[in-house]
Amino acid sequence: APLIGVVALQGGVREHREALESLGARTRRVTLPSHLDGLDGVVLPGGESTSMVRLAAASGLFPALEQRIRDGLPVFGTCAGLILLTRTVLDAEALAEHPRVPVLDMAVRRNAYGGQLASFVAPIVVTGESTPVEAVFIRAPQVEQVGHAVEVLAEHGGRPVLIRQGIVMAATFHPELTPDTRVHAMFLALVGLRDDGLRDVGLTNAVE
Ligand code: GLN
Repeated sequence: APLIGVVALQGGVREHREALESLGARTRRVTLPSHLDGLDGVVLPGGESTSMVRLAAASGLFPALEQRIRDGLPVFGTCAGLILLTRTVLDAEALAEHPRVPVLDMAVRRNAYGGQLASFVAPIVVTGESTPVEAVFIRAPQVEQVGHAVEVLAEHGGRPVLIRQGIVMAATFHPELTPDTRVHAMFLALVGLRDDGLRDVGLTNAVE
């Protein structure tokens, strides 16, 4: 079974581990760079992106994770995790002081739907799935721009909410908060593809 690390600084860690384990994966909490050794994939949960960059800064976890991803480690970021993985974060003052994991060729806006009360649930149509997925949006970011290497797997209100760029998947919603495990299964399929010899990590090295 694949071993998936779940970055456990803050946010929805237990729910991601339960979803992955229900699909047959093994999981490990990741708080330090050494915890990345031997993983087949990594999940960056939602929570609060500003807290996460602060908590990760001392150990150098995020630069270490970025290097692993560029070397071929698949990663799945949800909500705040998507923000951490995106190259261009608009209104990024609060994030600018500490390293993130900027591998996705996209631009994203934090808290774009408004405050806590703007959280909502909506059905979304996901590429390859015959029935909609109920997507839970909590102070979600909005993807404002995507590069040509970004494949949009689902949209809501005309904006991408689930994307893939090479070995990186990201969602603006919280698939770990519903019993439906299809989105996690998509990530495990990507991890499996990597094991089967997918060579192109699908990431660019463009300078910000
Ligand atoms: N608003 C949060 C942030 O900017 C993300 C919300 C979430 O992960 N549910 O980090």
